Amino acid sequence: MPQMLTLTLPDGAERQVEEGTLPRDVVASIGQRLLRDALAVEVDGEVQDLVTPLRAGGAFRVLTSKDPKALDVLRHSGAHILATAVRRLRPDAKIGFGPAIEDGFYYDFEVEQPFTPEDLEQFESEMRKVIAEKYPFVRAEVSQSEARGKFADDPLKLERLSEFSEDEIISTYTDGPFIDLCRGPHVPDTSHLKHFKLLNTAGAYWRGDEKRQMLQRIYATAFFSKEDLDAHLHRLEEAKRRDHRLLGAQLDLYSTDQRLGPGLILWHPRGAIIRNEIETYERDLILRHGYELVYTPHIVSERLFQISGHLQNFAENMFGAMDVEGGAYRPKPMNCPGHICIYQSHSRSYRDLPIRYAEFGTVYRYERSGVLHGMLRVRGFTQDDAHVFCTPEQVPTEIARLLDLVDEMLKTFGYPYTIELSTMPAKALGSVETWRAAEATLADVMTSRGQEFTIDEGGGAFYGPKLDFKLIDAIGRKWQGPTVQLDFNLPERFDLEYTGADNTPHRPTMLHRVLVGSMERFVGGLIEHYAGAFPLWLAPEQVRVIPIADDFTAAAQSVVDRLKSRGARVHLDDRSETLNYRIREAETLKIPYMAIVGKREAESDAIALRVRGAGKKQEVMSVGDFIAMVEDQLASRALAP
Ligand SMILES: [Zn+2]
Ligand SMILES: [Zn+2]
Repeated sequence: MPQMLTLTLPDGAERQVEEGTLPRDVVASIGQRLLRDALAVEVDGEVQDLVTPLRAGGAFRVLTSKDPKALDVLRHSGAHILATAVRRLRPDAKIGFGPAIEDGFYYDFEVEQPFTPEDLEQFESEMRKVIAEKYPFVRAEVSQSEARGKFADDPLKLERLSEFSEDEIISTYTDGPFIDLCRGPHVPDTSHLKHFKLLNTAGAYWRGDEKRQMLQRIYATAFFSKEDLDAHLHRLEEAKRRDHRLLGAQLDLYSTDQRLGPGLILWHPRGAIIRNEIETYERDLILRHGYELVYTPHIVSERLFQISGHLQNFAENMFGAMDVEGGAYRPKPMNCPGHICIYQSHSRSYRDLPIRYAEFGTVYRYERSGVLHGMLRVRGFTQDDAHVFCTPEQVPTEIARLLDLVDEMLKTFGYPYTIELSTMPAKALGSVETWRAAEATLADVMTSRGQEFTIDEGGGAFYGPKLDFKLIDAIGRKWQGPTVQLDFNLPERFDLEYTGADNTPHRPTMLHRVLVGSMERFVGGLIEHYAGAFPLWLAPEQVRVIPIADDFTAAAQSVVDRLKSRGARVHLDDRSETLNYRIREAETLKIPYMAIVGKREAESDAIALRVRGAGKKQEVMSVGDFIAMVEDQLASRALAP
């Protein structure tokens, strides 16, 4: 007797089907029209295609092109269509993997010669043929030896096959001439891919391992509608224009140097001004919010990381040990253990709590050179790190304070944001009750403030639940923002204590939190968010004063002096270059304000103001009014001009 499965439809109706039934048949029994629109189904939260036999029951939902989850299915199918086209034109190409990724898909190929942009154009038109041929995606479940036969000429697939365990189902998908080793899911046939674009190629190590061969990865994107595709391509253009690596060089903000080593950032004076403004702002902000500043060393005895568990759990991200008088020392990958040592340098009473230690702590983490990326992914970075030690009862107040702090800060930088609550993962430290109570505390604080948030079920670190703030930048991309992490682990490992009102020892609760996170990544993100056009308070050079001719240099100098005395970063450009040349240079440097001084302005103690981004428009204004405006925007850290 085959086993019966119970499917619950969205309207609550139940269907009994035999195990092994194809979802296609279930959908057909609901309605032919629905079958026409169906791209895949979701069973008990798992997306599968219409031709994969049902092996479990549960909530059953049909996915059409209106469902965001169907987009991944379309994109992964796009990867197969890409590989189909590549293999037709380049039969020698060996195939690797081709997953859907955020915003698109890729496929990795092993070829003698890297692909050229012309190759990509050919592949794209060949894909259109594969699409027009409307090949169904046909699934087959095969034995190990059958599979080995089918992929005899594909060493990368054979390697993957050798990793399957005895009881794992091996499945293949075929569309026309192409066969791939794949779990699915796929859309019903190749004609569903309509709005797509091949974007670029890049070298990628097989399995991300730099000891293995370099494959050629083709990146692509696909959407259900032309509008969505066009909007995405426009966003990519914008992202290119805003690339912090290009702007970082153009605006002379930072560099890297191979002699120094990859992934290590040199902050140039103009970049350092931005960083210093952020640090000054944040230092004032957190002192106002009850934090105390501390400093801890950059190299630390390994013993500390043995106690903290980093050596056991985090070693692959740590730089190697150096020998100091027979003891092993490491550059610190995190600041927490140092802050804990400060906490433990005294005995603590409940009256001392909460204690909030903050540090702009520079940490070093080993990242493979292949993943390093400008300022965003580096090997040495400064975290605006803080640790709060409090009683369990104080947690809600501390979370509420943090929400205030984050909100104030992100508004200052002009970032809208979302919050995600990550809950207990499968492998977790501490009891389910402790976790659920902590998660409820976090959720309650947000709910009581009317703060919206989403839940990342099972997404927490093994040592506690956390809040992730995601910044939304000017072109709608999400960036990792502040995080607040509850920690059940380190207080135990370090045996942290405070004396309670009952005169007995208690375990404090520990919160880790960062606001900007990595200063390097945050500034890299800001460069892209503002496209290099920083608001006045962050701009490395705020005003450039330009006399039209030598006769007006004295008047221009007087404007400079007065602005300088009010703390503005201002330069005089009295070079003998043409006015147009000097204006263009100030525009290239994205300086917020240009103050032009000619005859009329010199005689009336005025300037002709050119505002960044406003084109050729000039407004004559008295020097007094201009200074007042600048002072006002600086004092309020306005998002202007
Ligand atoms: Zn596949
Ligand atoms: Zn920490």
